[in-house]
Amino acid sequence: MALTGIQIFKMLPKTNCKECGEPTCLAFAMKLAASKAELASCPYVSDEAKEQLSEASAPPIRGVVIGAGDNAVKVGEELVLYRHEKTFVNPTAIAILIDDSMSDDKVNAKIDQLNNNKYDRVGMTLKANLVAVKSTSDDAGKFKALVEKVSAATDDGLVLIANADCIKEAISVCAAKKPLIYAATKDNVDAMSAIAKANSVPIAVKGETLDDIIELTQKLTAAGIKDIVIDADEKTFKDTIKNQIAIRRAALKKKFRPLGFPTISFPCDMTDDALYETTLAAGLISKYAGIVVVSDIDAPNLLAMTVNRMNIYTDPQRPMVMDQGIYEFNSPDENSPLLITTNFALTYFIVSAEIEASRVPTWLLIMDTEGMSVLTAWSAGKFVADAMAPFVIKSGITDKIAKKKIIIPGYVAQLSGEFQEELGNWEVQVGPREAGDIPKYLRNIAGI
Ligand code: SF4
Repeated sequence: MALTGIQIFKMLPKTNCKECGEPTCLAFAMKLAASKAELASCPYVSDEAKEQLSEASAPPIRGVVIGAGDNAVKVGEELVLYRHEKTFVNPTAIAILIDDSMSDDKVNAKIDQLNNNKYDRVGMTLKANLVAVKSTSDDAGKFKALVEKVSAATDDGLVLIANADCIKEAISVCAAKKPLIYAATKDNVDAMSAIAKANSVPIAVKGETLDDIIELTQKLTAAGIKDIVIDADEKTFKDTIKNQIAIRRAALKKKFRPLGFPTISFPCDMTDDALYETTLAAGLISKYAGIVVVSDIDAPNLLAMTVNRMNIYTDPQRPMVMDQGIYEFNSPDENSPLLITTNFALTYFIVSAEIEASRVPTWLLIMDTEGMSVLTAWSAGKFVADAMAPFVIKSGITDKIAKKKIIIPGYVAQLSGEFQEELGNWEVQVGPREAGDIPKYLRNIAGI
């Protein structure tokens, strides 16, 4: 069980030296108990106390890494129930399901989806992260051959779904990739835990009830296995979500260690309708699955899941921003028009999409306004003439254009005169208010 702040305080040096960044040892102890401080911040904790405090200072939901190298994913380590309290930390891993009843062509197509279906959005790459390889035949040789093929074809991590005999056989060809093995149940926990220990790989548990799951995680923890993932799926989506919430609450609010692990969920088993499956996966990403296993990641379904995931796992207290600088569209040259806007990522992506659609070669200057949109930045004094002019001059854009002419968003037409004064020998033009009017505006300028 987790220690209280007072219990932790009793083990600290009590010198109030402030080196941990807290005014007193008691304040540090309280933060440690609430998982808001790191034990390592106090350099004076004795080794004996360290040992006793390690549990208290561990995250309430363990972080579990699946895979190896650059494509390894970590799930868990969440600290809050609600995204508005603080950001969620490790995005839900999306796994595509491949099983040993599939034809070679189908397996190849799924691997192709995993490796190639991705989107660049607001500076991030959105993609699936794992491949779940399942044995439906219970044929160890067949399963091993499939795991070997999949493992060789992708750098993404693996989830091995099979009985203990099949997993024992197949793990010899992929142990270095640190796959998640699925799943220890009350009937096979000894065999599965032996595989997990021998290969130092994470293990999933599955029980009929949460009590079964607690028994299994306690047994594995007692055996020295720490990297555990919980499958708490129920027959209905509603009950699955109830379990997800119960597990998250028990781990965070009660510091109940036997449920302090990330979860895995299987929307692929909940419906045969691809669109509905995506909807269920999106629900599970929101509440609070660490991994979702889906049957398909074709482009539209992947986009829906990954954009939903991105929205849930971005920091609500920090706007998404673009880097300040010069952006090129449609191969501009010295005679191409120059636009300026703010670095709010949504503004950038809307404006850039319209410029691209116009097919007119164009320069776009993005100014750092701390992630504010045009009107907000203007009213906050960050997208105003005396800030914009020095930025434009220092940006280096004058080396790229022949005529000093710049187009400002229509919403800040009122600053055009002052902006021109600040810029000196530049011409300032007022562009459209709505981004949707940019293509027509640019084509008029280009005479096309
Ligand atoms: S660094 Fe350690 S001893 Fe110093 S105030 Fe913090 S907890 Fe106390």
